This record gives sequence, C-alpha cells and structure tokens, in this order.
Amino acid sequence: MSGQSHRYGKIREPDADGIAEAARILRKGGLIGLPTETVYGLAADATNSLAVAKIFKTKARPRFNPLIIHVSNKTMAAEYAEVTVYADALMEAFWPGPLTLVMRRRENCTVSPLVSAGLETIAVRAPAHVVARTVIGAVGRPLAAPSANRSGRISPTAAGHVFEDIGEEIDMILDGGSCSIGIESTVVGVGEAGFWLLRPGAITAEQLEDVTEKKLRIPEGSAITAPGQTASHYAPNAPVRLNATDRREGEILIGFGHVAGDMSLSKTGTLTEAAANLFSMLREADALTPTTIAIAPIPDHGLGIAINDRLRRAAAERE
Ligand code: AMP
Ligand code: MG
Repeated sequence: MSGQSHRYGKIREPDADGIAEAARILRKGGLIGLPTETVYGLAADATNSLAVAKIFKTKARPRFNPLIIHVSNKTMAAEYAEVTVYADALMEAFWPGPLTLVMRRRENCTVSPLVSAGLETIAVRAPAHVVARTVIGAVGRPLAAPSANRSGRISPTAAGHVFEDIGEEIDMILDGGSCSIGIESTVVGVGEAGFWLLRPGAITAEQLEDVTEKKLRIPEGSAITAPGQTASHYAPNAPVRLNATDRREGEILIGFGHVAGDMSLSKTGTLTEAAANLFSMLREADALTPTTIAIAPIPDHGLGIAINDRLRRAAAERE
C-alpha cells in the first residue's frame, strides 16, 4: 500500500500490531474506523456511554438515532438481547453477514442506553468481515458502529473515504480494502410472532422469506422507516437526478446496464456489482463537481430495492 494512503499514520494495516492497537484504543473509550463487508463503521465500545457519545459528536448527528451493535455470534448477541425463535432462525441462516436484528434489550443489558436512544430494543449484527470479527474478538465487548461518515453524507466503502470525512477526529482507521457488499445491512425487527422490515439492505426480502417461509411485513406508509431514517441521507454535494437515460449539459451520468453513462455501476446490469460500486461512484462523480449527478434507472427488485432506497435519499430535498 502506498505511503500516501497511510495519511498521517492514521490508516493502518490490520496486521497483529494494528489489531492490538485498535483493541487498546477501543477498550480505553476511543474511536476507530472499522472495515465490514457492508460499509466502514465508526466503532466504539458499546458498553461505554462516553465513547458512544463521541460517535454522535464525530458524525455530527443532529439526533440521537439508535445504533447497531456488532457482536461475534449468537451467543454474544444473547448476552444483550432477548433472542426469540424467529431471531434465532434468522441468525442461523444469515450470520455472520449483513442482517441486523432489532430485538428487546435484556433486563441486565450492559450496553449503553444511548446506543438504543432510550428505546427498550437493541439492534444487533454479527459482521462477516474478518477484520471486524478479529477486532470484536480482541476487545471482547460489543462495538457500536454506524457508518463512518459525517451525518447525511455518502457512506464510506474504503479506508480513504473514512479519512477524508472524519480522519482528523478519530484515533485510527484499519484498512480492510474495499467493502465487498458496499451497501448497509438489512434491518429487521423481530418479536415473538414474526418479523418486519425496518430498512432495506444487502439481504433481500426474498432471501428472508425463503428462510422463514413467512411473508415479510413492511410497516404502514410508503417509506420504510426506522428511527432516524431521514429523507435526505447519503447525499453528495451535487444534486442528484434519478432515472436518467441521457446526459444533460454539465451533468455526470452514472450508467447501469444498457445506459452507458460516463461511468457505470454495472455494465452487465448486475445488482450486486452495482451495490458494491454505488457509494464510491457517487464520491467519484461528486469529485468532478458536476452541476448534477444523473443516475440511470435501477430495477426495483432484489438488491435494487436497497439501492433505490439509498438513491432516493441521495436525491431528496436537503434538510
Ligand atoms: P446506521 O446508523 O447507518 O448504522 O443505521 C442504523 C439503522 O438501524 C438505522 O436505520 C436505525 O434506525 C436502525 N436501528 C437501530 N436501532 C434500532 C432500534 N432499537 N429500533 C429500530 N431501528 C433501529
Ligand atoms: Mg449511515
């Protein structure tokens, strides 16, 4: 890796020394940029309220939205959450991986209430990325980790993205390469009687329904909502125009499939490839300072549902 990418020594290789240093920082209440298979997380010890408060400060989050805790496995999840039969089945099928389950907090749950934003519930995920798993194991505590970007901006899918956004304010960034999935986890609420979708993401509704043989409930209202999901999010500096099939004056066109564009999310029209390229390509297009970033239509099925959800937020009226 080039020296330049290790700007100010903040970006570190996830070798034994890097992992040990990350674990030391986290145990002392510091913050690190942590690679996962979805996007880079801004990680803190979830049992340390002061450390969790630093996450909100660093992201400049306008509100105390609840955060996801990252654990090693089901056993560790059960220390903090009431794992129902449905939750257990979903963990068996999709963990480790990009599925977050919102469950009731256990009565003796030692995770900071700030993580749950005062709710009785807690969001839990076991990431698949080997670096994230190694760090969680080394710390031995759950890590609260929202995406490592300033609130409302594009999620980071490479260590350099984290550095550009919040590098100055955090203790280190572990470089785990580009995120293989590139889009956030699917968030599902689970109770005694079933489960419901709170945020579309890397695991599709079809994949979930295949496992549970139950229809996924999508809560009332057109927008799928979880607390803190503001309309404008994932926003580049340039305004965004959706469903574009041509380029207008001054625009950069991001293509997909048969819409070629100036760059393409996936020339072959593959949704997994488009998800992996989405956030880095929005950054790339934004860096060219176009009047507008135009984006080709993305089919609204499978992973395309999560991609379109992010694109609608990127295009939404800014707060
Ligand atoms: P992020 O901050 O990008 O990691 O996103 C976390 C997502 O999980 C947001 O959509 C939150 O609203 C959702 N979430 C976290 N905790 C809860 C909870 N207790 N109840 C419902 N949704 C939650
Ligand atoms: Mg985020």
